[in-house]
This record gives sequence, C-alpha cells and structure tokens, in this order.
Amino acid sequence: MMLDYQSLLLALGVSAACLMVTLFGTWVSRRTDSFLLTLVAALGLTISGILTYNLYGSHMGPILGAFAYSLLMGGFSVIFAASVQFRTGLRPWRLAMLLALVTISAGAPFMAIGLNGLGLVVMNVATAILLAGTAHQYWCARAEAPVPLTGMSVLYLMSAASFSLCATMLIHGGQWTLAKVPDNWAENLNLGVCIAGMTGIGALSLALHQWRLAAHHRREALTDPLTGLLNRRALFEQHGTRLLGVSSAIIVFDIDRFKLINDQFGHASGDLVLKAFAEDLCDVLGRDSTATRLGGEEFAVLLDDIMPGRAELVATDVLQRFSSRRVVFERGVVQPTVSAGVATGNQAGSPFEAVLGQADAALYEAKRAGRNRVELAGYLHPVVDNDSESRTSA
Ligand code: GH3
Ligand code: MG
Ligand code: MG
Repeated sequence: MMLDYQSLLLALGVSAACLMVTLFGTWVSRRTDSFLLTLVAALGLTISGILTYNLYGSHMGPILGAFAYSLLMGGFSVIFAASVQFRTGLRPWRLAMLLALVTISAGAPFMAIGLNGLGLVVMNVATAILLAGTAHQYWCARAEAPVPLTGMSVLYLMSAASFSLCATMLIHGGQWTLAKVPDNWAENLNLGVCIAGMTGIGALSLALHQWRLAAHHRREALTDPLTGLLNRRALFEQHGTRLLGVSSAIIVFDIDRFKLINDQFGHASGDLVLKAFAEDLCDVLGRDSTATRLGGEEFAVLLDDIMPGRAELVATDVLQRFSSRRVVFERGVVQPTVSAGVATGNQAGSPFEAVLGQADAALYEAKRAGRNRVELAGYLHPVVDNDSESRTSA
C-alpha cells in the first residue's frame, strides 16, 4: 500500500515534534548552551512550516503559501546555523537570520503573487543548498567523532538530493502557477527520505551531544583546574607504563620557598605564582606539551626525541624565565625562583616511574645546593657527586 502525500507530511510533522521534545529535554537536563537548543528552534520552525504547508495544500491562499515558505526556509536556515555552531562554537543566530532573510526574499514574493510553482522551485533549491551545506559542516567536523558525524553528513546529503529531485520535477513540469501543491513520486520520496533522515539525524545528534559531554568530563578529570596543565593522573595514564630510552627525559620542577609566599601574601597570591609558572612552562614547551602539575608547587615535563643535553637547556630556560619575572599582588611583589631535576632514560629502557624518581632525587640535590638551579641525575651528571650517584643508580 502506498501512503498518500498528506499522511507522509503528517508523519514527518509528528516525528519532528517527537524529536524536538527529546532534544529539548536533553538540553534542559544539562543546561549547557549547545547546538541542541538551536536544533530545537530549527525543528519548531520546520514543524510550523509543515503544518502551514499542509493547510496551504487545502486552501492554496498566496499569503498562506508565502507564510509556509518563510517558516520552512527559517527552519532550514537555523538547521545550517546549528551545524556551523557545532563545528565552530560560534553563536548561530546572526547567521541564521541572515540566511533566512536571503532565502525568504528569494522566493516568498513569488508565492505571494501566485507564482507558487516558481516559489516552490526556489524553496527546493535553497533547501537543497542549505542541507548540502549542513552536510559539509558535519563532514568537516568528522574527526571529532567519525562514525556519527559521517552518518549525519550522509543523511543531510541524501535529504538535500531529494529536495533537488523535487526542484527538477517542478522545472521539468514547467508550470509556474500551480492549482494544487505538487504531488508526484519525487515529493513522496522527499518526504520518506526526510522522515528517515530526521529520525537518524535526531538519534545521532543526541549521541554526539553525549559523546561531547563524556569527552568534556574526561578532559576535566585529566586537567589541573588552576593552571590548565595536565594533572598527575593524566601523566601516569598516558606515560606511566612506558620504558624511556636515551632520547627521553623527565624534568621535575619545585618552586622555591613557596610556603613563604603563601605565608606572607596569602594562598590566593600563591596561586598566582603557580599560574605564572605554568605560563612560563607553556611558553617554553608549547601548548601541546606534557607539562604537568604533579601537585602543590611541583611540576613535571616528559620530553621525547631529544638530543643529549636538550633537557637541561629546556630546564634552564624555564628557570631563567621564571626568575626574571615579577609577580605583582595587592600586598606586594615577589621574584620567585624554581629548582629543577633532570633524569634521562637509558639504552635498555628505564621504567617511567624510575626516571621520575631519579629526577626527583636530582631536584632534591638542587634544593640542597642552594635552589634556583638545575641538577642532573645519573650518569649524565657532569660533576661526579658520590652522594647523588648512590641515590640515583639504585
Ligand atoms: P622548598 O624551596 O624546599 O621547595 O620550600 P617550599 O616552601 O616551596 O616547600 P614546601 O613543600 O614546604 O611548601 C609547599 C607549600 O605549597 C605548602 C602548601 O601549603 C603549598 N601549596 C600546595 N598546594 C597549593 C596550592 O594549590 N595553592 C597554594 N597557594 N599553595 C599550595
Ligand atoms: Mg614541594
Ligand atoms: Mg617548593
């Protein structure tokens, strides 16, 4: 049995309404401003458009036609804007308004003066372009979650293709004034594709939203909130089981006399010093480094693929930057310093935690030797120091 056009249109409206309720519920429960709310608005407009178009099917008033046209174009413009919002994080409303304005002024006047065949051609073409654009946005973003985003991209593209088929049929018919809304195989196919597409896209949008939330929570669990650096857990999760060769090194930093800064200027001022140090670390190492806040005022960096001597240079660079800084508080100024210990892996591969321990021991030596300095652990140490040798070779 073939379903008639009206029933398909109704089915589309109902599935869009169900989707809107689900998306809205998800948005409300999280209260994060996200592209889901934009999609809810898009669906609201689209559903109103579908209902009005349905009414237009039985009354054929030109103003009603222009109204249905405008609601639908508004809906598709917001759908495109939501995809841009998803990809870039930018607020979607200005873009949505602009697109709606352009697409509505391109075709609504035809509807209003009775050239509804022409108006519907413009509507189908504009919708196909907006949906293909939407497909393109999700396609560009697919690295974030390849399967759902590629799926969404394909579904939007299929919908776009079905709208362009409708346009082709109308152009082929060549009638610019229609006595009733077009009802042919392309229109029915279009509605079928839209119903299937909407269901799939809805499910995938929800999956994406959850996926993003999970990724966000995961990132949070691995990030130190004060400095934005990795935390100890992240460093150990990513590198804790590795064996480090001779071209890998760990530097451990500990801010000198940090307790004094806290005692003299307060905890908040201490926090400013920690942030300042994290900035210096990132300036030297770059944003994608393994710079980690191990805890308190202790930091660590793991360097890979480095030449001998490079780790010391990096450590020295950080020390110099930090000690040339003046951190200004309400109650005064400090010129903080930091000490560092450096340890390198070995030919056979040294366990991560062992190298970290050696770097820690070297740091202890740096503190003992007067602070604001870099000490090397193990066999790379230029000055043979029996005390530290016996500590680090164990
Ligand atoms: P040393 O030169 O030997 O490293 O001396 P120190 O005073 O830096 O060392 P100590 O380990 O005694 O002091 C570290 C202090 O860091 C103690 C603790 O109260 C403070 N601290 C730990 N975490 C934080 C933090 O998140 N913010 C602030 N402001 N202070 C912290
Ligand atoms: Mg300490
Ligand atoms: Mg300290």
